[in-house]
Amino acid sequence: MEFAKLILGCGLHPITKSLIGIMCVFMCITSCGKTRNAPSQTKKIEWGYEAKNGPDVWAELSPEYILCGVGKHQSPIDLVNPTPVKLSPITYEYYRTTDLNIRHTGHTIEVASPEGNWIVVDDTRYQLLQFHFHAPSEHTVAGQPFDMEMHLVHKSEAGSLAVVGLLIKSGSHNAAFDPVWAHLPAVPGETLHIEQINVHLHRMLSANGQVTDEVVRSFSNTYRYDGSLTTPPCSEDVKWIMLTTPIEMSEAQIAAFRAIIHDNNRPVQPLNGRELLVDVEANE
Ligand SMILES: [Zn+2]
Repeated sequence: MEFAKLILGCGLHPITKSLIGIMCVFMCITSCGKTRNAPSQTKKIEWGYEAKNGPDVWAELSPEYILCGVGKHQSPIDLVNPTPVKLSPITYEYYRTTDLNIRHTGHTIEVASPEGNWIVVDDTRYQLLQFHFHAPSEHTVAGQPFDMEMHLVHKSEAGSLAVVGLLIKSGSHNAAFDPVWAHLPAVPGETLHIEQINVHLHRMLSANGQVTDEVVRSFSNTYRYDGSLTTPPCSEDVKWIMLTTPIEMSEAQIAAFRAIIHDNNRPVQPLNGRELLVDVEANE
């Protein structure tokens, strides 16, 4: 109001007043146009785990993430009341790896697997692509979360995914993770290429660190269900294989990871009528 009085109320000639009025209308039209253009200039929001970009709003961040909101076969889930059945055994063809890329993706620490590590499930071979970690765990057991969770992501030749998940609780130091934990990249986007290190995957998956044929066979004690990626785009048709026996890591090992990455866990999702199976041996 005060601004209008100053412009129009100083005894100006009526024609001058009219010109000022026309200019005002023109300025309004151009500035209104600018206002309408503003939203298209806003930066795309990267998904994450905070209120503004976390699991509750993933589906709103991009049309590609729609399944995060409307998918009916989503992961993770609460592992409770499984149906005990005799599941087909899984063959773990994991070998020692020597050269690794360890990457801070901004969402987790991800270790790329060289070719040559496989699992075989129901006569289908799935190649290990990478493994990564969440803290705290994404899956819960009867409502209880664990300190961390490891995901080993595999892909078949036909393009279907199988993820082996491992729950991690605080306890003894776990030397199987030392080669990776010695090279945790601290900066988002950073990749460390490490040569000549031995990562023994069987030992990582083993609850007691001892690797025998019997132990490797016991990895087949699993929960299984059909789910999704737990991060955008939340793609479904992922075969989930959760080992029933958690492994341990020391408080210091868990703290070392959490100092870099923490709270990167999606909450559990509804089962929506899916079957959750467990090996009969594991349920005895
Ligand atoms: Zn994961």
